[in-house]
Amino acid sequence: MAVLDSFSLKGKVALVTGASYGIGFAIASAYADAGATIVFNDIKQELVDKGIAAYAEAGIKAHGYVCDVTNEEQVNAMVAKIEKEVGIIDILVNNAGIIKRIPMCEMSAADFRQVIDVDLNAPFIVSKAVIPSMIKKGHGKIINICSMMSELGRETVSAYAAAKGGLKMLTKNICSEYGEYNIQCNGIGPGYIATPQTAPLREIQPDGSKHPFDQFILAKTPANRWGEAQDLAAPAVFLASDASNFVNGHVLYVDGGILAYIGKQPK
Ligand code: NAD
Repeated sequence: MAVLDSFSLKGKVALVTGASYGIGFAIASAYADAGATIVFNDIKQELVDKGIAAYAEAGIKAHGYVCDVTNEEQVNAMVAKIEKEVGIIDILVNNAGIIKRIPMCEMSAADFRQVIDVDLNAPFIVSKAVIPSMIKKGHGKIINICSMMSELGRETVSAYAAAKGGLKMLTKNICSEYGEYNIQCNGIGPGYIATPQTAPLREIQPDGSKHPFDQFILAKTPANRWGEAQDLAAPAVFLASDASNFVNGHVLYVDGGILAYIGKQPK
Protein backbone atom coordinates (compact mmCIF):
# COMPACT_ATOMS: atom_id res chain seq x y z
CA MET A 1 0.00 0.00 0.00
CA ALA A 2 1.32 3.45 -0.90
CA VAL A 3 2.10 5.28 2.31
CA LEU A 4 -0.42 8.09 1.83
CA ASP A 5 -3.15 5.52 1.08
CA SER A 6 -2.64 4.05 4.55
CA PHE A 7 -4.11 7.28 6.00
CA SER A 8 -7.38 6.82 4.09
CA LEU A 9 -10.56 6.15 6.11
CA LYS A 10 -12.63 5.14 3.05
CA GLY A 11 -15.41 2.69 3.94
CA LYS A 12 -14.98 3.22 7.71
CA VAL A 13 -17.73 4.22 10.14
CA ALA A 14 -16.56 6.65 12.83
CA LEU A 15 -18.47 7.55 16.00
CA VAL A 16 -17.24 10.75 17.64
CA THR A 17 -18.99 11.48 20.95
CA GLY A 18 -20.08 15.02 21.84
CA ALA A 19 -19.19 16.25 18.36
CA SER A 20 -21.79 18.94 17.58
CA TYR A 21 -19.07 21.59 17.77
CA GLY A 22 -15.56 22.19 19.14
CA ILE A 23 -12.80 19.59 19.03
CA GLY A 24 -15.15 16.69 18.24
CA PHE A 25 -16.58 18.53 15.25
CA ALA A 26 -13.08 19.27 13.88
CA ILE A 27 -12.01 15.63 14.28
CA ALA A 28 -15.21 14.25 12.71
CA SER A 29 -14.91 16.68 9.79
CA ALA A 30 -11.33 15.52 9.18
CA TYR A 31 -12.52 11.90 9.22
CA ALA A 32 -15.18 12.75 6.63
CA ASP A 33 -12.49 14.43 4.53
CA ALA A 34 -10.44 11.20 4.79
CA GLY A 35 -13.44 9.17 3.52
CA ALA A 36 -15.25 7.95 6.67
CA THR A 37 -18.99 7.97 7.34
CA ILE A 38 -19.58 10.21 10.34
CA VAL A 39 -21.78 9.42 13.31
CA PHE A 40 -21.93 11.65 16.37
CA ASN A 41 -24.04 12.10 19.44
CA ASP A 42 -24.77 14.88 21.87
CA ILE A 43 -26.71 15.21 25.05
CA LYS A 44 -29.62 17.32 23.71
CA GLN A 45 -31.68 17.29 20.50
CA GLU A 46 -30.97 20.99 19.89
CA LEU A 47 -27.20 20.30 19.96
CA VAL A 48 -27.60 17.36 17.58
CA ASP A 49 -29.68 19.56 15.22
CA LYS A 50 -27.06 22.30 15.42
CA GLY A 51 -24.35 19.71 14.67
CA ILE A 52 -26.19 18.19 11.68
CA ALA A 53 -26.66 21.70 10.23
CA ALA A 54 -22.96 22.55 10.77
CA TYR A 55 -21.83 19.30 9.10
CA ALA A 56 -24.26 19.91 6.20
CA GLU A 57 -22.82 23.39 5.77
CA ALA A 58 -19.37 21.78 5.50
CA GLY A 59 -20.75 19.37 2.85
CA ILE A 60 -20.82 16.37 5.23
CA LYS A 61 -23.82 14.08 5.70
CA ALA A 62 -23.48 13.19 9.39
CA HIS A 63 -25.71 10.84 11.37
CA GLY A 64 -26.60 12.44 14.71
CA TYR A 65 -28.06 10.75 17.81
CA VAL A 66 -29.22 12.10 21.16
CA CYS A 67 -27.44 10.13 23.87
CA ASP A 68 -25.99 10.85 27.29
CA VAL A 69 -22.68 8.98 27.27
CA THR A 70 -22.82 8.43 31.05
CA ASN A 71 -26.01 6.39 30.69
CA GLU A 72 -25.13 2.78 29.83
CA GLU A 73 -28.66 1.90 28.66
CA GLN A 74 -28.79 4.88 26.28
CA VAL A 75 -25.28 4.11 24.98
CA ASN A 76 -26.09 0.45 24.30
CA ALA A 77 -29.32 1.45 22.51
CA MET A 78 -27.46 4.05 20.42
CA VAL A 79 -24.69 1.63 19.40
CA ALA A 80 -27.30 -1.02 18.41
CA LYS A 81 -29.13 1.62 16.35
CA ILE A 82 -25.92 2.80 14.64
CA GLU A 83 -24.96 -0.79 13.78
CA LYS A 84 -28.41 -1.29 12.20
CA GLU A 85 -28.76 2.08 10.47
CA VAL A 86 -25.16 2.89 9.47
CA GLY A 87 -22.90 -0.13 10.10
CA ILE A 88 -20.40 -1.55 12.57
CA ILE A 89 -18.34 1.19 14.22
CA ASP A 90 -14.70 0.93 13.04
CA ILE A 91 -13.48 4.06 14.84
CA LEU A 92 -14.61 5.43 18.20
CA VAL A 93 -13.45 8.80 19.51
CA ASN A 94 -14.31 9.35 23.17
CA ASN A 95 -14.44 13.14 22.93
CA ALA A 96 -17.45 14.24 25.05
CA GLY A 97 -16.14 15.90 28.17
CA ILE A 98 -16.79 18.52 30.83
CA ILE A 99 -14.63 20.54 33.18
CA LYS A 100 -15.49 22.21 36.49
CA ARG A 101 -12.96 24.74 37.74
CA ILE A 102 -13.47 24.78 41.50
CA PRO A 103 -10.81 24.76 44.26
CA MET A 104 -10.73 21.21 45.62
CA CYS A 105 -11.74 22.04 49.20
CA GLU A 106 -14.75 23.98 47.91
CA MET A 107 -15.83 21.27 45.47
CA SER A 108 -18.79 19.07 46.39
CA ALA A 109 -18.40 15.31 46.06
CA ALA A 110 -21.37 15.42 43.65
CA ASP A 111 -19.51 17.83 41.31
CA PHE A 112 -16.35 15.69 41.52
CA ARG A 113 -18.35 12.56 40.66
CA GLN A 114 -20.07 14.25 37.72
CA VAL A 115 -16.73 15.12 36.10
CA ILE A 116 -15.43 11.59 36.66
CA ASP A 117 -18.68 10.24 35.24
CA VAL A 118 -18.49 12.14 31.93
CA ASP A 119 -14.69 12.19 31.45
CA LEU A 120 -13.77 8.69 32.66
CA ASN A 121 -16.76 6.42 33.24
CA ALA A 122 -18.35 7.34 29.89
CA PRO A 123 -15.30 6.36 27.76
CA PHE A 124 -15.40 3.01 29.61
CA ILE A 125 -19.14 2.62 28.88
CA VAL A 126 -18.92 3.58 25.18
CA SER A 127 -15.74 1.55 24.54
CA LYS A 128 -17.32 -1.48 26.19
CA ALA A 129 -20.34 -1.09 23.89
CA VAL A 130 -18.33 -1.04 20.65
CA ILE A 131 -15.50 -3.51 21.34
CA PRO A 132 -17.50 -6.78 20.85
CA SER A 133 -18.42 -5.86 17.25
CA MET A 134 -14.85 -4.66 16.58
CA ILE A 135 -13.58 -8.06 17.72
CA LYS A 136 -16.06 -9.81 15.39
CA LYS A 137 -15.05 -7.55 12.50
CA GLY A 138 -11.34 -8.16 13.15
CA HIS A 139 -10.21 -4.59 13.75
CA GLY A 140 -11.00 -1.37 15.60
CA LYS A 141 -9.60 2.00 16.61
CA ILE A 142 -10.43 3.76 19.87
CA ILE A 143 -9.12 7.27 20.49
CA ASN A 144 -9.57 8.81 23.92
CA ILE A 145 -9.34 12.58 24.18
CA CYS A 146 -7.03 13.06 27.14
CA SER A 147 -5.45 16.34 28.28
CA MET A 148 -2.36 18.08 29.63
CA MET A 149 -4.05 17.16 32.89
CA SER A 150 -3.39 13.47 32.11
CA GLU A 151 0.19 14.38 33.14
CA LEU A 152 0.08 17.59 35.18
CA GLY A 153 -1.86 19.05 38.07
CA ARG A 154 -3.10 22.59 38.51
CA GLU A 155 -5.27 24.65 40.85
CA THR A 156 -9.05 24.09 40.60
CA VAL A 157 -9.09 21.03 38.33
CA SER A 158 -8.74 18.10 40.76
CA ALA A 159 -11.68 16.16 39.28
CA TYR A 160 -10.68 16.82 35.67
CA ALA A 161 -7.03 15.82 36.31
CA ALA A 162 -8.14 12.68 38.16
CA ALA A 163 -10.47 11.77 35.27
CA LYS A 164 -8.02 12.53 32.45
CA GLY A 165 -5.16 10.76 34.28
CA GLY A 166 -7.49 7.78 34.65
CA LEU A 167 -8.41 8.02 30.96
CA LYS A 168 -4.73 7.73 30.03
CA MET A 169 -4.56 4.49 32.05
CA LEU A 170 -7.86 3.21 30.60
CA THR A 171 -6.25 3.78 27.18
CA LYS A 172 -3.27 1.62 28.13
CA ASN A 173 -5.56 -1.01 29.59
CA ILE A 174 -7.83 -1.28 26.53
CA CYS A 175 -4.63 -1.68 24.46
CA SER A 176 -3.39 -4.38 26.84
CA GLU A 177 -6.68 -6.27 26.95
CA TYR A 178 -7.78 -6.06 23.30
CA GLY A 179 -4.58 -5.50 21.29
CA GLU A 180 -4.57 -9.18 20.36
CA TYR A 181 -7.87 -8.62 18.50
CA ASN A 182 -6.28 -5.98 16.26
CA ILE A 183 -7.82 -3.15 18.26
CA GLN A 184 -5.62 -0.11 18.77
CA CYS A 185 -6.52 2.24 21.60
CA ASN A 186 -4.57 5.48 21.80
CA GLY A 187 -5.11 8.93 23.27
CA ILE A 188 -4.71 12.47 22.07
CA GLY A 189 -3.67 15.00 24.68
CA PRO A 190 -4.62 18.43 23.37
CA GLY A 191 -2.76 21.42 24.73
CA TYR A 192 -4.83 24.53 25.34
CA ILE A 193 -7.27 24.71 22.46
CA ALA A 194 -9.48 27.72 21.75
CA THR A 195 -13.02 26.27 22.05
CA PRO A 196 -16.19 27.18 24.00
CA GLN A 197 -14.87 25.02 26.91
CA THR A 198 -11.85 27.31 27.32
CA ALA A 199 -13.54 30.60 26.28
CA PRO A 200 -13.82 31.86 29.91
CA LEU A 201 -10.02 31.63 30.15
CA ARG A 202 -9.52 34.00 27.23
CA GLU A 203 -12.04 36.68 28.22
CA ILE A 204 -10.68 40.21 28.00
CA GLN A 205 -10.65 41.73 31.49
CA PRO A 206 -12.74 44.80 32.47
CA ASP A 207 -9.55 46.94 32.27
CA GLY A 208 -8.94 45.74 28.67
CA SER A 209 -5.99 43.46 29.57
CA LYS A 210 -5.67 39.77 28.63
CA HIS A 211 -7.05 37.22 31.10
CA PRO A 212 -4.16 36.20 33.43
CA PHE A 213 -4.65 32.56 32.39
CA ASP A 214 -4.36 33.55 28.72
CA GLN A 215 -1.02 35.26 29.49
CA PHE A 216 0.10 32.23 31.52
CA ILE A 217 -0.67 29.79 28.67
CA LEU A 218 1.11 31.88 26.05
CA ALA A 219 4.20 32.02 28.31
CA LYS A 220 4.08 28.23 28.87
CA THR A 221 3.67 27.27 25.21
CA PRO A 222 6.81 27.26 23.03
CA ALA A 223 4.51 27.74 20.01
CA ASN A 224 3.38 31.00 21.74
CA ARG A 225 -0.28 30.53 20.77
CA TRP A 226 -3.40 28.63 21.76
CA GLY A 227 -4.08 25.61 19.60
CA GLU A 228 -6.98 25.48 17.16
CA ALA A 229 -9.29 22.48 17.00
CA GLN A 230 -7.92 22.03 13.46
CA ASP A 231 -4.45 21.29 14.93
CA LEU A 232 -5.88 17.99 16.23
CA ALA A 233 -7.40 16.91 12.91
CA ALA A 234 -4.44 15.23 11.17
CA PRO A 235 -3.10 13.54 14.35
CA ALA A 236 -6.62 12.15 14.88
CA VAL A 237 -6.73 10.82 11.30
CA PHE A 238 -3.35 9.15 11.83
CA LEU A 239 -4.57 7.34 14.96
CA ALA A 240 -7.80 6.24 13.22
CA SER A 241 -6.08 4.92 10.11
CA ASP A 242 -3.99 1.93 9.04
CA ALA A 243 -0.97 4.25 9.25
CA SER A 244 -0.96 3.64 13.03
CA ASN A 245 -1.68 -0.10 13.09
CA PHE A 246 1.33 -0.85 15.34
CA VAL A 247 0.84 2.21 17.58
CA ASN A 248 -1.07 1.10 20.67
CA GLY A 249 -1.55 2.38 24.22
CA HIS A 250 0.13 5.69 23.41
CA VAL A 251 -0.99 9.24 24.19
CA LEU A 252 -0.04 11.68 21.45
CA TYR A 253 0.27 15.13 23.00
CA VAL A 254 -0.63 17.87 20.54
CA ASP A 255 0.30 20.77 22.76
CA GLY A 256 2.61 23.19 20.95
CA GLY A 257 5.41 21.85 23.17
CA ILE A 258 3.98 22.61 26.65
CA LEU A 259 4.98 19.27 28.18
CA ALA A 260 8.55 19.65 26.90
CA TYR A 261 9.07 23.11 28.38
CA ILE A 262 9.97 24.18 31.91
CA GLY A 263 8.76 27.75 31.23
CA LYS A 264 10.41 31.14 30.81
CA GLN A 265 12.83 32.34 33.45
CA PRO A 266 11.41 35.54 35.00
CA LYS A 267 13.46 38.61 33.93
P1 NAD B 1 -16.84 21.37 24.47
O1 NAD B 1 -17.42 21.65 25.80
O2 NAD B 1 -16.71 22.49 23.51
O3 NAD B 1 -17.58 20.12 23.80
C1 NAD B 1 -17.83 18.94 24.54
C2 NAD B 1 -19.04 18.26 23.93
O4 NAD B 1 -19.41 17.14 24.75
C3 NAD B 1 -20.28 19.16 23.84
O5 NAD B 1 -20.88 18.98 22.58
C4 NAD B 1 -21.16 18.64 24.97
O6 NAD B 1 -22.53 18.88 24.78
C5 NAD B 1 -20.82 17.15 24.93
N1 NAD B 1 -21.18 16.46 26.16
C6 NAD B 1 -20.91 16.83 27.44
N2 NAD B 1 -21.44 15.93 28.30
C7 NAD B 1 -22.03 14.97 27.55
C8 NAD B 1 -22.74 13.77 27.86
N3 NAD B 1 -22.94 13.39 29.12
N4 NAD B 1 -23.20 13.02 26.84
C9 NAD B 1 -23.01 13.41 25.55
N5 NAD B 1 -22.35 14.52 25.20
C10 NAD B 1 -21.87 15.30 26.19
O7 NAD B 1 -15.41 20.75 24.70
P2 NAD B 1 -14.11 20.78 23.77
O8 NAD B 1 -13.26 21.89 24.25
O9 NAD B 1 -14.45 20.66 22.32
O10 NAD B 1 -13.43 19.44 24.30
C11 NAD B 1 -13.63 18.17 23.72
C12 NAD B 1 -12.77 17.17 24.48
O11 NAD B 1 -11.41 17.61 24.48
C13 NAD B 1 -13.16 17.02 25.96
O12 NAD B 1 -12.98 15.69 26.36
C14 NAD B 1 -12.16 17.93 26.66
O13 NAD B 1 -11.95 17.58 28.00
C15 NAD B 1 -10.93 17.68 25.82
N6 NAD B 1 -9.92 18.74 25.90
C16 NAD B 1 -10.19 20.03 25.54
C17 NAD B 1 -9.17 20.97 25.62
C18 NAD B 1 -9.38 22.40 25.21
O14 NAD B 1 -8.45 23.19 25.34
N7 NAD B 1 -10.55 22.78 24.72
C19 NAD B 1 -7.90 20.61 26.06
C20 NAD B 1 -7.68 19.29 26.43
C21 NAD B 1 -8.69 18.36 26.33
